Amino acid sequence: MHESAQLKVYKFGGASVKDAAAIRNLGRIVAEHGRPGPLVIVVSAMGKTTNALEALLQLAHAGQPYAAELAELRDFHANVAAELDLPADELLDELLAGLQTQLTAAATVSEADLDRHYDQVVSFGELLATHIVAAFLRARWLDCRPLIRTDETWREGRLDWVATEAALRAALPLEDLVQGPPVVTQGFVGGTASGLTTTLGREGSDFTAAILAYCLEAESVTIWKDVAGLLNADPKIFADTVRYPEISYQETIEMAYYGASVIHPKTIKPLAVRGIPLLVKSFLDPTAEGTRIHDCRHGLLVPAFIRKTDQCLVSFESKELDFISEENLEVIFGVLAQVRLKIRLMQNSAISFSVCTDFLPARLEQLLARLRDQFTIHYNTGLELYTIKNYDAPSLQRLTAGRELLLEQRTRQTFQFVCRGAGEMEG
Ligand code: ASP
Ligand code: MG
Repeated sequence: MHESAQLKVYKFGGASVKDAAAIRNLGRIVAEHGRPGPLVIVVSAMGKTTNALEALLQLAHAGQPYAAELAELRDFHANVAAELDLPADELLDELLAGLQTQLTAAATVSEADLDRHYDQVVSFGELLATHIVAAFLRARWLDCRPLIRTDETWREGRLDWVATEAALRAALPLEDLVQGPPVVTQGFVGGTASGLTTTLGREGSDFTAAILAYCLEAESVTIWKDVAGLLNADPKIFADTVRYPEISYQETIEMAYYGASVIHPKTIKPLAVRGIPLLVKSFLDPTAEGTRIHDCRHGLLVPAFIRKTDQCLVSFESKELDFISEENLEVIFGVLAQVRLKIRLMQNSAISFSVCTDFLPARLEQLLARLRDQFTIHYNTGLELYTIKNYDAPSLQRLTAGRELLLEQRTRQTFQFVCRGAGEMEG
């Protein structure tokens, strides 16, 4: 097949569509790098819209007034559309009316249905953003909810790959993409067989780009970010960051697993399965090299630093001072899975077993309620989990100096420790 006939998938996150100037910049990138040639563009909610929608839902559910916040959200999108000279139009009004309806309903939604309702509300961020970007680019706006099929795991929909692949191929045949305008669709959202909206987990738009690329057998995915590529640490937290020019899928999956926030953890696997390279590039400097994540071999990489804040260390002791046994562990793991607390680090001694998880108070409460009879449980909150991947003596020294380590673990490649949150910059 001729090079230009191969599909590219671009993903633009919240920062790259945060205002009218950012969307104009997106337009230049698409014109100069993405076209001609078939192109599908995945867009996240603008700026901090997803957080704003979460806050709106909370207010509405608590029966508190939210009119001012809703008006702010509406004005924000309407102003961006106006600044881009897009005619004030019906679809925007229609979307906002839909959001209002969902918020009204939120007041009477039970706790048990709140996660489902979350998806119905929070997905509006992507609907609004894609509508504006598609209009600006004169692209084809595609509602991905009937195509990206998930189960009913609200807020973390699990993909039905077979149904999704069939639906996407039918909706987006390559001939149409070659001849037609670029397609703009939503990141982060999907839909159930019964037509309800789901979301794929916070920051899930990267995963959407990978789903589209996998199903449509794209030539590459490019994630446009406000950083120069895949770095060895988050420059907002660590000084002296280094960019990896290329890196393997395997290394990237591991970094994402440990919590590097640059790419959503689910993104890599589908791309690796079909050998589709993932390019991470800066929307501020689009001609710069960025990072190529693909099937490659490389020597030892510079150490990567990953920090997770707001961690909680939970330890379980058997009540009779029994040893921690496989039977005990089976019970603990089972409940952790049921309440959906993800283990980030674990360790056991003779009579106690400790896990580090994100601090999610409601889920932790459920965990305590289900296991308190069987175990004595202690927990600490406000902790930080640090991971150094490919560590060496200087990097270890740099990160641990002056910190009291509550728990530590070392493998050949990886050093991890939990400590009290200092909240200060490392430098
Ligand atoms: N808008 C969603 C979020 O903020 C998804 C994404 O940005 O990838 O989590
Ligand atoms: Mg985002």
